[in-house]
Amino acid sequence: MRFIRDIYQEARPTGRPVISFEFFTPKTDEGEQSFYRNTLPRLAARSPDYCSVTYGAGGSTRDKTLAMVERIQTEFRIPTMAHLTCVGSNREQILALLDEARRRGIANILALRGDPPAGTGAFAAPEGGFTYAHELVSLLHQLGGFSVAVAGFPEGHLECRAGRHQDWEHLKRKIDCGADLVITQLFFDNDLFYEFRDHLVGRLGVAVPIVPGVMPILSTSQINKFVALCGATVPLGVQRRLAERAHDDAACAEFGVEFATRQCEDLLRNGVPGLHFYTVNKAASTCRILDNLGLNRV
Ligand SMILES: Cc1cc2nc3c(=O)[nH]c(=O)nc-3n(C[C@H](O)[C@H](O)[C@H](O)COP(=O)(O)OP(=O)(O)OC[C@H]3O[C@@H](n4cnc5c(N)ncnc54)[C@H](O)[C@@H]3O)c2cc1C
Repeated sequence: MRFIRDIYQEARPTGRPVISFEFFTPKTDEGEQSFYRNTLPRLAARSPDYCSVTYGAGGSTRDKTLAMVERIQTEFRIPTMAHLTCVGSNREQILALLDEARRRGIANILALRGDPPAGTGAFAAPEGGFTYAHELVSLLHQLGGFSVAVAGFPEGHLECRAGRHQDWEHLKRKIDCGADLVITQLFFDNDLFYEFRDHLVGRLGVAVPIVPGVMPILSTSQINKFVALCGATVPLGVQRRLAERAHDDAACAEFGVEFATRQCEDLLRNGVPGLHFYTVNKAASTCRILDNLGLNRV
């Protein structure tokens, strides 16, 4: 399968935005059937450049993640990236997993530290494992044969007490260790993204693609859940519009499409290399946003 770094490199001279969709591994058989029968065919019809599949909290979806990546690649012919965290696995176990990934034709990895399992407090590296994502990036770089993405945080990572500039130094280290691109955490205020990008490019000399992660708002409960996890700021205007629709998910989703369309239009005008959609395994909003943007590749 193609390296994702090559996809961005080839798109760059044309100015064509690279479109990618993120999925999670369905938790139930019904969820899985619905994903492969409905969600994926609808989104695959939009000809995304690539997809990605998350790695469950605490390393809980290890095999499912690889199996789903392999299935999307073989059945739908879409290059797909496996997320991988350092949670619950030592170096040997990570090496075994990467071996398995290779056997399954997986060439793209999003290298993450991961969050500590709920209720366990601060992140603690497993014995013989890694403390920070840059160590995983270094391992992947040493092994070779993978294109490696890393996570970036336009508002700084929640745990980085020294502030966002320090967190962005840590991000730079991941790139120096061999990462090929950065995908950001979701955000709702583009100015935060531009400040982050300007700092990385202008001050820290980062030259790899910095790709905004966009989450279409589907409901107030969905947004509250994600924002609590990642600490993204929800601008007052958005909070007000959501509060007015608090008990009407359809109206929230409608607002979400309108808001994300405007957000993506602004990002594209400001030269982002692509858009990475956090689809939460739903097709409708993402398809409508792409239609609104005129990125209809059906
Ligand atoms: C696009 C994207 C996809 C994601 N997918 C998943 C997923 O599939 N599964 C999942 O469980 N989680 C996922 N996450 C969440 C991610 O695992 C968490 O945000 C996690 O807390 C941080 O991971 P990281 O790779 O950024 O860690 P790191 O880059 O290791 O950073 C973690 C913290 O350590 C600090 N730090 C880094 N290096 C140093 C150093 N040398 N000294 C001191 N402090 C340092 C950083 O500033 C940060 O506060 C995703 C996040 C994003 C943005």
